[in-house]
Amino acid sequence: MSTTATQLKPQPTVPGTYQPKGMLIGGKWVGAASGQRFAVENPAKRTAVAEVPRSAAADVEAAVAAAEKAFATWKAVVPRERGKLLLKIAEAIEARVEELARTIALETGNALRTQARGEAKMTADIFRYFGGLGSELKGETVPLGEHVLSYTRREPIGIVGAIIPWNAPVMLGALKIAPALCAGNVMVMKAAEDAPLGVLMMADICQEFLPAGVLNVLTGFGQECGGPLANHPKIRKLSFTGSTEVGKVIMRAAAERIVPVSLELGGKSPSIVYPDVDEEWTVDGIIAAMRFTRQSQSCTAGSRLFLHEDIFDSFLNKLEKKTTGLKIGDPLEEATDIGTIINSKQYTKVCKYVQDGLDRSDAKLVFGGLPPKTGPLSEGYFTLPTVFADRSNDWRLAREEIFGPVLVAIRWSDEAEVIRMANDSHYGLAAYVWTHDIGRGLRAAHAIESGWVQVNQGGGQTPGMSYGGYKQSGIGREFSLEGMLDSFTQRKSVTVNLAV
Ligand code: ADP
Repeated sequence: MSTTATQLKPQPTVPGTYQPKGMLIGGKWVGAASGQRFAVENPAKRTAVAEVPRSAAADVEAAVAAAEKAFATWKAVVPRERGKLLLKIAEAIEARVEELARTIALETGNALRTQARGEAKMTADIFRYFGGLGSELKGETVPLGEHVLSYTRREPIGIVGAIIPWNAPVMLGALKIAPALCAGNVMVMKAAEDAPLGVLMMADICQEFLPAGVLNVLTGFGQECGGPLANHPKIRKLSFTGSTEVGKVIMRAAAERIVPVSLELGGKSPSIVYPDVDEEWTVDGIIAAMRFTRQSQSCTAGSRLFLHEDIFDSFLNKLEKKTTGLKIGDPLEEATDIGTIINSKQYTKVCKYVQDGLDRSDAKLVFGGLPPKTGPLSEGYFTLPTVFADRSNDWRLAREEIFGPVLVAIRWSDEAEVIRMANDSHYGLAAYVWTHDIGRGLRAAHAIESGWVQVNQGGGQTPGMSYGGYKQSGIGREFSLEGMLDSFTQRKSVTVNLAV
């Protein structure tokens, strides 16, 4: 039997943030069947800020049963009406956007002003966008002849198992919940163990409007909770965002039962700077594309900076000046530009990459380096934006996804060669091209093997655009109408003989 929410141990509250009531199964806030819990850490202070249930197979079972019960009714709701509920959720999120933003900043270490507030607002926008798409779940008629009526229906798939990461947890969660539910599916979602609070708050808001069991949210660890979810025989669709490594595990689980799978995975995205844009706006764009103000914990980080040899040194000088002017500090403080790395494991990993760069004789440290061991920044998992200059695209720092603020600048002179280097990666998520010559920029954009190429900007995704990876960066698209139709519906053909 599940423990009740009241058995969760109260934690000292951080003003203006959400305190969890348990996890959401069948419209109720419950503890784990085992009664176990785990602490959620504030990475800026290395202190526990809340406790959440540590769920496992029995809880997955309960959540799937609740979802199954809800499906029959939910799929029969007129799509436009489902959409209206999502629109109400969007409004309710907007009304509590500051609390959501503070909660995200507290548990992820992403700075409130530069990151968390934007994520909270985007979450409302995502519900609003998909809330308007209910009527687009339409099929087609097929001209098979005068005596035949053949048409297609877009039907929901059933219970969706969703597993999300910690780097933009609420937005990435909304990107699964809103389209899946709009299309008539029900969901069991596992929040990331490092950042479950914002997701639980979003679930709490959703629960005000949704029938019980339509959305169920579990908190727990990867193998312990994510494993049984990915392998549950009643889960009919898997939607995963996270590392390529775990993405392969999810895909194997899906293969066992021939379940459709959407994967949003890692990246090692190239930024190609042509010699005509040795300018301040490009430097701002590179800082944005590298996601330095979210500690580069982003799969779209433009972490390979291909700078033309004519501007290599002067551009790096400008980049140093601007980047080192950014304020690193407590994510909840308004003045902070850059927050912290999520946890001790990632922090150690990032430091190891920096040390590797320092140890390599061919690489030159342009700025940054290992984080301070004393002073206020040593209280949390703070790292420094770091840039290494090198000639090669073939070393570890230029090939592996670091998920931290370590940028490799690589000199180029020949256009065909830089495109070859940009494509020499098993990833293919995002890319950035910088030039005043729009013809050249678009030729490069078309030649790059990535699911998303931005020319002269380094922004984030916007609802409406189809977002997803080439190569080992993933399968399927999110953020868009097409993504919703392809990922969360299945097409049925109905063929009627009109001659009888
Ligand atoms: P990150 O490196 O960003 O933490 P992961 O891919 O490790 O990304 O984690 C993303 C999500 O996948 C998290 O919710 C995590 O708990 C979950 N996860 C990790 N390992 C497994 C696994 N073996 N099976 C199912 N889910 C997993």
